[in-house]
Amino acid sequence: MLYIDEGKIGEVLAEGFKATEGHIEEILAGAGSLRRLSLQEAAALLSIEEPRMLKRLFEAASLVKDRIYGKRVVLFAPLYISNECSNSCVYCAFRSENRLLKRRSLSRDEVREEAKCLLEQGHKRALVVAGESAPQGKKAVDYYVESVEAVYSASVGKNRIRRANINCAPLSIEDFKRLKASGIGTYQLFQETYHDRTYRTVHPKGPKSDPDNRMDAIDRAFLAGIDDVGIGALYGLCDYIFETLALLMHVEHLERRFGVGPHTISVPRIETASGAEFTRRVPHRLSDEEFKKVVAVLRLSVPYTGIILSTRESPELRDELFGLGVSQVSAASRTSPGGYSQPDACDDAQFSLNDHRSLDEVIGSIISKGMMPSFCAACYRRERTGQAFMKLARPGAIKDMCAFNALITLKEYLDDFASDKVRTAGYALIEKEAGRIDAVGRQALGRFFDAIDNGVRDAYV
Ligand code: SAM
Ligand code: SF4
Repeated sequence: MLYIDEGKIGEVLAEGFKATEGHIEEILAGAGSLRRLSLQEAAALLSIEEPRMLKRLFEAASLVKDRIYGKRVVLFAPLYISNECSNSCVYCAFRSENRLLKRRSLSRDEVREEAKCLLEQGHKRALVVAGESAPQGKKAVDYYVESVEAVYSASVGKNRIRRANINCAPLSIEDFKRLKASGIGTYQLFQETYHDRTYRTVHPKGPKSDPDNRMDAIDRAFLAGIDDVGIGALYGLCDYIFETLALLMHVEHLERRFGVGPHTISVPRIETASGAEFTRRVPHRLSDEEFKKVVAVLRLSVPYTGIILSTRESPELRDELFGLGVSQVSAASRTSPGGYSQPDACDDAQFSLNDHRSLDEVIGSIISKGMMPSFCAACYRRERTGQAFMKLARPGAIKDMCAFNALITLKEYLDDFASDKVRTAGYALIEKEAGRIDAVGRQALGRFFDAIDNGVRDAYV
């Protein structure tokens, strides 16, 4: 597969599994300096099985997460615009052969209605998700662009979606340029599996059956000027240690070619999907403990890259993973087009979810762990993307700016949408966190808070 050297991964793996406890301790001690780990070091950490060393790994990941991102967890929700697809991915309910599903692509107005439902809950960030075929007579990119514009056009009171990211089919450089011009934040595309033979087996037909075209799509997005890209592997298709090392090899390729790695890494695990028999016997299902290890190793290996977790995971595991390095989570998600505004649409979901809590409940839970929920989208709007973002993120400087914006967006959420219980807990957290800011910063924050009390929304630094 393009950019992935399976032979080298095999060698690195063999070496990593020879690592002594002393060597692993050394790597963990060094990780505190927030440097990128080598593939060899990542392989050594992935070889850990002993509970005492796993605990050490988790502590190190939590420390690095705290030093770069602070206690902040950014929230978003997926917004599925279509389930029409010309591919045959064996694990997905949207695969073209699945006759159990009613197919549809939302109109502009329907997309706007979905965005309004998200705004009514308090969401500010949406991830637009699409199957891989456009509605009849339309070019895919035109449909994506009109949908992104519809998301941004929705408003509820003074609230609007502040960042629309997108997870959609690979495009040409020209079409990526058009997508960028629509105002997207991150372009997200998962390679699913980096193992060439496995890739070809699980993607038997359709445009997605070419692994190299998919692999090259992130490069094309960069070449088109989209410098916030998100990559990921669908865990369960192939050995999790191989996938994690290959993901890191993909990061190395992007850093080498573009001087900057991905903005985010996603770690979806295969969930049961109706009409996709494959999902009932996932070949490389990984345990929760192995999954936690993957998140921790990614956090240490690429400290400045956001790690995204979806509602595929249970509330208990999600709560644990907040502390281990996850920096963005979805909440109150639906995976069917129309799923928020049209109750009967939920039968046409892409896969089943394990966290069914409302946004308010997820926020309450984050606050109860001493973490800080954030709806901030300031970096992208201040053009702190790509290399500009990494320059701030690498030395850990982004943390203070983000903490400030997180407090502002949390107050907005508490005032406009929270239940009484969450509002009380949230204000206590704000007071505690504001106490950590120096006097000048506290004064500035006070001015922002006064403005919010006077009806101003969407202020940020
Ligand atoms: N159709 C585009 C594609 O495949 O890249 C974008 C949207 S697709 C709905 C988004 C992601 O959903 C896929 O990249 C895949 O990783 C994930 N997915 C598909 N089936 C899944 C399942 N059964 N469980 C968990 N995630 C799944
Ligand atoms: Fe289509 Fe994407 Fe599902 Fe594959 S994963 S069948 S491309 S929607």
